[in-house]
Parts: sequence; structure tokens; C-alpha cells
Amino acid sequence: MTRLPDEPPRSLRLNIDREALAANWLALHRMSGEAEAGAAVKSDAYGLGVEIVVPILHEAGARHFFLAHWSEVPAVLNYSEGATVSVLHGVRTPEEAAFAQTTGAIPVINSLRQAVLWKESGGGTCHLMIDTGINRLGIEPSEVSDPAIRSLDIDTVMSHLACADEDSAMNARQLATFRKASAAVQAKRRSLANSAGIALGPQYHFDLTRPGLALYGGIAHPALADVIKQVAQPQAAVIQMRDLSPGDSVGYNAIWTAEQSTRAATISIGYADGLMRAMGPGGSVSFDGWQLPVIGKVSMDMIVVDAGNSALAEGDFVDIPLNLPETSARSGLSQYEILTSLGIRYSRS
Ligand SMILES: *Cc1c(COP(=O)(O)O)cnc(C)c1O
Repeated sequence: MTRLPDEPPRSLRLNIDREALAANWLALHRMSGEAEAGAAVKSDAYGLGVEIVVPILHEAGARHFFLAHWSEVPAVLNYSEGATVSVLHGVRTPEEAAFAQTTGAIPVINSLRQAVLWKESGGGTCHLMIDTGINRLGIEPSEVSDPAIRSLDIDTVMSHLACADEDSAMNARQLATFRKASAAVQAKRRSLANSAGIALGPQYHFDLTRPGLALYGGIAHPALADVIKQVAQPQAAVIQMRDLSPGDSVGYNAIWTAEQSTRAATISIGYADGLMRAMGPGGSVSFDGWQLPVIGKVSMDMIVVDAGNSALAEGDFVDIPLNLPETSARSGLSQYEILTSLGIRYSRS
């Protein structure tokens, strides 16, 4: 078998601002008041990469990491010494329960069936999710005194807010339901707030908060706008320059046509890298102080920009703007979708 040479440097980079990431966790931890802040690092830390993100959060002081799938556990275990790693989807099968027992990752029990399955696998420390109105995962408040629940060894009893990013009456309703239901549960800790929930005030904090989006630069609530720093900055290489004449069109379906002589640059980023078609129109990249508008449709692996009078040349890297609230407002994609769509082709550092 021939040994492959080292991979050449990639034409796509995702620069992670380590200080901003640590500062965001610390800010959310402080805003959580008496409560401790954990960290939601599911879906490869919202697309930023657990190998980079988890060690930084761990060093900043985070000791509770939340994932959605069991497949996400091994990568996080490498960097989470002395911390808990919890799986929000809970245990669906005996195989998942056995995996939890072996790895020490803690399942969030979401139903009576999961509670029984966990006990049958040997039981031990788990968390409990109570549904207080989002109607996705969790036992009903009326089920808290079921024998299957009473027999669990519960570390954290939690619930999840549906409308924390809005000024909605549902927040107070869920808070009241959670207070009442969780009071009937024997547990070490209570936890309710995600990123936006932290901004709703001290009564939402309990013992542990679970920020995700805001760690990574998302503005989950207007009150976080002055607190949270941008973390991820993509850069992509110019793979070809070309001169367009009036009448030349660019890209699939020829939706853009040059009205004058134009220097165009083909850039190595496309919708497979999270630059969705909806971000194309009105979007631009920046280079050396120039804003270079995207022309034509976004392709899977490429975009074309109008290089204008800039000195942009083949091999240069351009900055792809990733101001999450702005990009979200312009494209109609949520800040969560923009981050988790970044994909696997970046060199993350
Ligand atoms: C994803 C998730 C979080 C983190 O939410 P953000 O809005 O990203 O802060 C917290 N709790 C649960 C149950 C989640 O699924």
C-alpha cells in the first residue's frame, strides 16, 4: 500500500477566534449569575469543530458538555477530563444504553420507555428532561411521579424553552410549569436556559445553563448583542481570474450578464460549504478593503465575484463575511443553520 503524502493546504479555511470563544463562554457564565454555564457542543460544536472548540471551552472553565447523538461522544471525551458529557436524545436502544455505560456519557431520559431501558441496562446517573410546552422531547409533567421515574438516579432535571429568543408569554408559562414539575423530582441540579434563556433573567437560570449558539457568535437575544463576539471567520481562495466582455453571462441559468468589461474571480466556496444560494444575491466577499459582489448563482463548489479595480489575483484568499445576525436577516436562514451548514472542507484552526 502506498503511503499518501501530506494533504496540501486547503483552499478553504475557517479561522476560529479562540479568545472570542473563551470570552463568550465566560460572559455567558457570568450572566448566568449563581448558576454555572455548560456548553452545547452538538453537531460538531455547531459546525466549528469539537477538536478546537471543546479544549478552549474546557480551559475557560466549562464542565458540562451537551451533545445530541451517541456518535458525537468519542470525539468530545478526548477533551473533557473531569467534565460531564451528556446526550440529549437519551437512550433509544439497548446498544445506546450499553454505550453510555461503557463511555460514562450521561443520557438525558426523555420518556418512561427510556427510563425503563436505562434501568434494564444497569442504570446509574442520568438526567431527566421534562417537556413544558415545546413538545419535542421529555416526559409529561404528570409523569414525574411514575415509579419508572422515581427509581432513577437523576443528576440534572431540565426542560427546554420554545420561545426564549422572543418576548413571548410562553416563557413565563414554561418557567411556572418547570418550577412545579421539577420540585417533585429528586435531583442534584435544575437547568432550563439555552443562550437566549440566559438573557431572560435570573429566575430562568436555576443551577446550570446550556448555551450553544451564543458561544459561537450567534446573537440569540437582543440583550446579547453587546456581549457576544464573532468567533468564526471563513476565507476562500481565488482559483481563477477571467475577463468578461459586455454580454457575457456568469454561472448556472445565466442569471447575471456583464454590462461592461468586468474582471471576475472564481472563488473556492459554494453551497456545499454552507454558502447557500440564498446568500448569493446582495452578498459580497472582502479583499484588501474592497467589497466584491457575488455575481450569478452560487454553485456547489464555487462562487464568482466582481473583482472591480482591486488587485485580486489567483491564489489570494478573500474573507467571507459571517456576521450571523446580518447574514441571517439577508438570507432568511437562521443563525443556527448558517453555522451548522459549514461542512467538512475547511481547514479549521
Ligand atoms: C441545542 C440545545 C441547547 C442550546 O441552545 P442554543 O439556543 O443554541 O443556546 C440547549 N438545550 C437543549 C435541550 C438543546 O437541544
